[in-house]
Amino acid sequence: MVLDIFLIFLLVFILYIYGWFFWYFKFYKKSVVSKNIISFHKISRFPEFGGTSNLIFQFENYMKFLKDEGFKTVTIDEFINHNDPKNILIFFDDAYENIYKYAYPIMKKYFFKGVLCPVVGYIGKKNVWDVKTGKFKHMEFGMLKEMIDDGFEIVSHSLTHKDLRKLNDENLFFEVEESKKILEKILKIKVDYFLYPYGLTNKRVKEFVKTAGYKGAFTSYTDKSEFDLYEIPRNTLYIIDSNLTLKTLLYKKPLFLLGHFDMKGRITNWFGRFSPIIRL
Ligand SMILES: [Zn+2]
Repeated sequence: MVLDIFLIFLLVFILYIYGWFFWYFKFYKKSVVSKNIISFHKISRFPEFGGTSNLIFQFENYMKFLKDEGFKTVTIDEFINHNDPKNILIFFDDAYENIYKYAYPIMKKYFFKGVLCPVVGYIGKKNVWDVKTGKFKHMEFGMLKEMIDDGFEIVSHSLTHKDLRKLNDENLFFEVEESKKILEKILKIKVDYFLYPYGLTNKRVKEFVKTAGYKGAFTSYTDKSEFDLYEIPRNTLYIIDSNLTLKTLLYKKPLFLLGHFDMKGRITNWFGRFSPIIRL
C-alpha cells in the first residue's frame, strides 16, 4: 500500500519534471510576449467557492508590492506605445461592485488607476453566468462614472458575456458594437478596447471587433509567440496566488516557477476549448 502510493507520487513527479523540460525547450523563448498586465475578478472579505476572487489583504499586498517595486499604472495607449518595464495595467474583469467597495480605496491609497471591464447588459445587476459561485452584483453607472473621473479606463466586455465564437453574425455584431455604443453614450467617453468574455476568440470574432472600431482587444492566455493587438494576453490572479506569483510573472524568474505558471496557463487554455466555465 505504502509502496503503491510512493510509486504513484514518483510517477506524477517524473511526469511533471518531463513536462517542465518539455515546456522549457518548446515554449520558454516564446513566452516573452506575456506583458505586465494583471487582472482580477472579485475582491472579497471571505473566500468564496470557485476561487476567482482575491481577499482584501491579498489585493493590498499586491498593490504595496507594485508600489515598492516602482511600478506605475498607465493608460492602455501609453502601455502599448511605450515599452517601459515598470509600466503596468491592472484589469477588473466584469466590474463587480466589490471592486468599487474594496479595491478602489486601496488603489487610491497607492495612486494607482485600473481598467474596468463592464458587461454592459449587466451594469447594476447580478451576474447569471457564474454558475459555480452564485450571483454577484455589478457596478452601477454612477460608480463607473466616479472611477472614470478619477482616471480609471473602461473597456467593453460585451453585452451579455457569451462565448462570442458561437454566435451568428447578427448577434456577434450586437455584442461587440452595441456594447461600445451604449458605454460611450451613457458615460460620455471613448471606448477603444474590448475584452473577450472567457478570453475566447477566433479570427472571425477579431474581424468583428476591428470592424466595430476598436483599436485592440484583450484575452486571458495566449500561446501566440508574436504580439497581436487584437489578442493581448493578461495574467489573472486567483485566491491561490500570492506576491510570489506576481513577482515571478513580472520579472520572469525564478524560471522554475514561471515554467509552472506558464504550463498551468497552457493546460487551462487547452481545456478551455471544451467549456467556457473553466475560463472564468
Ligand atoms: Zn468576464
